Amino acid sequence: MKHLKFVGAHVSTAGGVFNAPLNAKEIGAKAFALFTKNQRQWWARPLTEKVIGRFKENLKKAGISPEMVLPHDSYLINLGSPDGEKRRKSLEAFIDEIERCCQLGLKYLNFHPGSSVGKVSEEECLKIVAESVNEAISRTKEVILVIENTAGQGNTVGYRFEHLARIIELVENKERIGVCLDTCHMFAAGYDIRTKEAYEKTMKEFDEIVGFKYLKGMHLNDAKSELGSRVDRHHSIGKGKIGLEAFRLIMNDERLNGIPLILETIDPSIWKEEIELLYSLIEE
Ligand SMILES: [Zn+2]
Ligand SMILES: [Zn+2]
Repeated sequence: MKHLKFVGAHVSTAGGVFNAPLNAKEIGAKAFALFTKNQRQWWARPLTEKVIGRFKENLKKAGISPEMVLPHDSYLINLGSPDGEKRRKSLEAFIDEIERCCQLGLKYLNFHPGSSVGKVSEEECLKIVAESVNEAISRTKEVILVIENTAGQGNTVGYRFEHLARIIELVENKERIGVCLDTCHMFAAGYDIRTKEAYEKTMKEFDEIVGFKYLKGMHLNDAKSELGSRVDRHHSIGKGKIGLEAFRLIMNDERLNGIPLILETIDPSIWKEEIELLYSLIEE
């Protein structure tokens, strides 16, 4: 069932977004993630027709379909900010990113739900996130907004499956909301996936609380941090505290067929090997 798993990595866009598909192809990726603008700056120049054309052309050359691309939003954005002005700025930047994805012909935008910055309760913060998402959806077209589970570092929300479910519950247009599970974040948030038993228990919980129908992608990362530590430190596959067995279980889990499975591991120079390693774990 090798052809049903779409593994890739969060590749570089140095020189222009149109380089991302080629960077993905070079490491043997069948999926990829990218930033459609500098992730550490608020604003970027609009994409030109020429850039958009080159991106689409390279995507075809790489043989990757738009459904297997999972763009990631800027780290500056906090859709759950209790500060009205900061939330507004985040929302405008987020909407700009949705429009960029739309222009590039992409289907998804992966985002971190946000942080209460310690000023409001988690429930209040989740409501603010949902309100932001509702406004973003009403002002844009088509792109599915994909909430990423977090490690729960600092005051971030989204580290419990219940948080993801709560946001979905409050989003009016459920056709345009999805989730992405990051294995490192899951593990750091206390969800064990190291053994078959633990993995099945965690995935069952995810299915009951959120539902696999909302799962649009995964981030495959091992963890330097301990189970339940709520510390977000990625590691290369098989080298961290999660270990290789969890990734063998993932690669053989049919529920994860047909969605982008993205490496955000710490050493891009071994991504090609990591992708090969992951495919080698599939039992025919
Ligand atoms: Zn992320
Ligand atoms: Zn991630």
